Amino acid sequence: MAKLLEGRPVAEKIKQEIKIQVRNLKQAPVLASIMVGDNPCAASYVKSQEKTALELGIVYKLFQLDKNITERCLIDSILELNADKAVNGIIVQMPLPQHIDSKKIDEIIQPLKDVEGLHPENTGKLFLSRTRFASCTASAVMELLNSTGVDLYGKEAVVVGHSQIVGKPLALLLLDKFATVTVCHIGTSKAGKLEEHVKKAEVLIVAVGKAGLIKGGWIKEGSIVIDVGINKVGGKILGDVEFESAQKRAAYITPVPGGVGPLTVTMLMRNLVEAAKLQR
Ligand code: NDP
Repeated sequence: MAKLLEGRPVAEKIKQEIKIQVRNLKQAPVLASIMVGDNPCAASYVKSQEKTALELGIVYKLFQLDKNITERCLIDSILELNADKAVNGIIVQMPLPQHIDSKKIDEIIQPLKDVEGLHPENTGKLFLSRTRFASCTASAVMELLNSTGVDLYGKEAVVVGHSQIVGKPLALLLLDKFATVTVCHIGTSKAGKLEEHVKKAEVLIVAVGKAGLIKGGWIKEGSIVIDVGINKVGGKILGDVEFESAQKRAAYITPVPGGVGPLTVTMLMRNLVEAAKLQR
């Protein structure tokens, strides 16, 4: 039976390190958070950011903007925060209303304040193995893997999902650890090859958003399984992996909820403290 890889204990350890770093800064770091409209998922993420910031001695400034704000006005608000020396990091909560191009927004945030690591300068640095700010979810997965003590060198790592915020940065971070990385996506599934790739994974990371996509019987014996997926099914939160059967085969597995989720905000705050140090 697999050991549970829970996010909270790993997050607690990192929070202690962040608290020390915050104390060593002359001023409390400031995170500016922009929320457009009132999406319930974004609102719940904001609540958890506010709570963690308070706990760590970080100043959290929420800017709640009308859902009908024009793209131009949103860009102007970000430019103001870019210029404000008192602000160390900026996060724009997703999803944005459809009339706003989120890719354009990622490129407007000052790269040294881009605590989500989405600006092309930061994704470029990640590509060049000179990481400044990596995506918070991808970093959370790396911290969970690190907590197992298993050396990733030469391991068969399979990432399912190739999004900009999870799959792609994760593939690069795994390559930096000399894992042999396979990235699967919708094309892999449509070609009927997902099972074949998943079955050889010594380290499996799934970030798709489809409950039960990965069958328990596909899990390699003794593997590490990190399930990033969050799916609401009949009032329950489920991951992308069939948990019960996968747990019988894996050596380590993340619960959903309680695995990657609790670590993501901590990674955001770690990036913020790093931003404050870089801006000094
Ligand atoms: P996206 O929708 O941006 O990406 C999903 C990825 O899965 C895409 O690369 C997509 O490929 C791929 N995909 C879709 N269907 C299949 C399939 N049948 N087989 C293989 N690949 C497929 O989602 P995110 O990356 O933003 O998030 C993924 C999941 O992780 C979601 O459930 C989300 O809620 C969760 N999440 C959890 C976080 C946490 O902190 N725990 C943080 C962020 C996300 P294509 O684009 O080509 O269709």
